[in-house]
Amino acid sequence: MARRTLVLDTSAVIAGFVPGLANAEQITVSEVLEEARDLCSKLELETAVLAGKVKVAEPSENSLAEVRAKVKDTGDTVSRTDIKLLALALDLRGKGAELVTDDYAIQNLASLLDIPYLRVAMPGIKEVLRWEAVCPACGRRYPPLTTKCLTCGSKLGRRPRR
Ligand SMILES: [Zn+2]
Repeated sequence: MARRTLVLDTSAVIAGFVPGLANAEQITVSEVLEEARDLCSKLELETAVLAGKVKVAEPSENSLAEVRAKVKDTGDTVSRTDIKLLALALDLRGKGAELVTDDYAIQNLASLLDIPYLRVAMPGIKEVLRWEAVCPACGRRYPPLTTKCLTCGSKLGRRPRR
C-alpha cells in the first residue's frame, strides 16, 4: 500500500505537470480533461489517461456536500470542476492523496478542509525560477528583496535570473 496518490487540477496540468513523470498514482475528474481542451497539455493528459497512468473518477455525494458547504462559508470563487476535485481529494485523503494545484482559491479551500496539497514546482518537471531585482534606470542588479537602487534611487523591478 502506502503508494502516493496525486489528485490533478487543471492549473497543475497547465503549469506543466507531466503526468507520466510522477512516481505516484494519479487521478482527476472528467471535467479537467474538458478544461484542458485547446491546450497542448490536453494531449499529454489524454495520453496518460489512455496509458492508464492517470485515472478518472467521480467524487462521492457526501464529499461534494462538504466542499460546497465550505465554499459557501468562505465565499471563495471556485468552479464546479474545482469543487469536484476537492471532493475527490477529500474522498481519498485517508489513502494519503494529495491535491496538485497552482490555484490559490483551491489551495485555500484545501487547507480549510484539511486536504494536503502540492504546488506544481516539482523537481525535474518545471524549472524553478530564481529572481533578482534590477534597476530599470541604470541596469544594476541586486538580491531579490531589494526595493531601491542604491546608486540612483530608482524603484527596482524583478526578473528571472539567468
Ligand atoms: Zn539605478
